[in-house]
Amino acid sequence: MVLWSGCPRASFRVSYQVSFVFLDVVRKKTTQMLYSNFIIYVFLHQVSSVVVKITAICPLSLLERVSDLLRWQQRYPSFNLPWKQNSFPLFSDSSPLYHTLKKPEPLTPQEEHDLQLGQERLWKLSEKSVQANIPLTVDAENTAIQPAIDYLTYSAAIKYNKDDNPIVYGTIQAYLKDAKERLLLATKAADKMRVPMGFKVVRGAYMSRESKLASALGYDSPIHNSIQDTHACYNDCASFMLEKIATRSDAVILATHNVESGRLAAKKALDLGIGKGNPKLEFAQLYGMSDSLSFGLSNAGFLVSKYMPYGPVDKVIPYLLRRAEENRGLLSTSSIDKELMRKELKRRLKAAIF
Ligand SMILES: Cc1cc2nc3c(=O)[nH]c(=O)nc-3n(C[C@H](O)[C@H](O)[C@H](O)COP(=O)(O)OP(=O)(O)OC[C@H]3O[C@@H](n4cnc5c(N)ncnc54)[C@H](O)[C@@H]3O)c2cc1C
Repeated sequence: MVLWSGCPRASFRVSYQVSFVFLDVVRKKTTQMLYSNFIIYVFLHQVSSVVVKITAICPLSLLERVSDLLRWQQRYPSFNLPWKQNSFPLFSDSSPLYHTLKKPEPLTPQEEHDLQLGQERLWKLSEKSVQANIPLTVDAENTAIQPAIDYLTYSAAIKYNKDDNPIVYGTIQAYLKDAKERLLLATKAADKMRVPMGFKVVRGAYMSRESKLASALGYDSPIHNSIQDTHACYNDCASFMLEKIATRSDAVILATHNVESGRLAAKKALDLGIGKGNPKLEFAQLYGMSDSLSFGLSNAGFLVSKYMPYGPVDKVIPYLLRRAEENRGLLSTSSIDKELMRKELKRRLKAAIF
């Protein structure tokens, strides 16, 4: 298997990140326009999956309130949440609950109504994804709102993931100390309910924010103590999901720019006999980044997606700047990409001259 030859002429499937972060939830017209654009994009372009940010279809303040209530119920299981639907476990025993220091007020009728609207928007996107038969991946955010995001994701997965075909995918952030435990609990519950489940595995993008909040409240950071622990957790979660794919109908998107994680996962997939081109395993990188990794995996026969944000320019640029900031290390040190570009430039110059 030649993984890192990085032939730039190889083709890979492109995943457009139809990022609904750019939606204004109160402007109904925009919402409708985006639903119809969604279908047009999926069919006209070679879209392998769609990504949604729940913060775009449900108000942030409501996600905070719902997360508070879910955390309080985790602490006091008899605490009643009348609006709560069937879900998988959202917390493990070690999940941080420090965001919610006092008993939250119940949702007001208006908040319940808004939650219902958010849920219906996700259902609508899920239905469209079922029609197009492509995964709908829900992005993970910071821990203050992640319980609400997982809740909405899992309840949609229970509704739409049928017949060995996971459509709605959750996201696990391996930099969190409780990541592996929550992945185990959610997949175990999904197995029990016979719901095929998909997960995108990432390392996590809110590291400094998480550490600052925990330290301001006097708690340990929920993030692993070292980057090596995060790498180990990522590879462990990836390996766990690959083993599940080998024996069941679950699915995984390994979203990373880390070459070692890509190499390890590819090797494990081959060892487990997960066929190349198996739609239950996909690798993903951001569009314009880590092309050598994308092409290497694609050349080795795996499905690879490039994430592309979609939305108005004034909303897309700040999103891209955040990604560039987050991947600053990678941008400055991607010697493989630089080397491959140098080689390709030389090859083209030679071809032009001779
Ligand atoms: C296709 C795609 C989709 C994504 N979707 C999401 C998403 O939904 N939600 C989200 O949060 N992020 C998302 N990300 C971003 C992702 O979480 C990472 O921030 C980014 O990809 C860099 O991680 P890496 O796996 O590429 O590896 P590397 O560049 O090898 O690792 C860097 C990562 O390691 C972790 N880390 C760094 N220093 C330390 C330390 N001292 N201690 C512990 N951990 C440390 C951090 O998570 C950091 O981002 C996505 C990335 C991609 C490529």
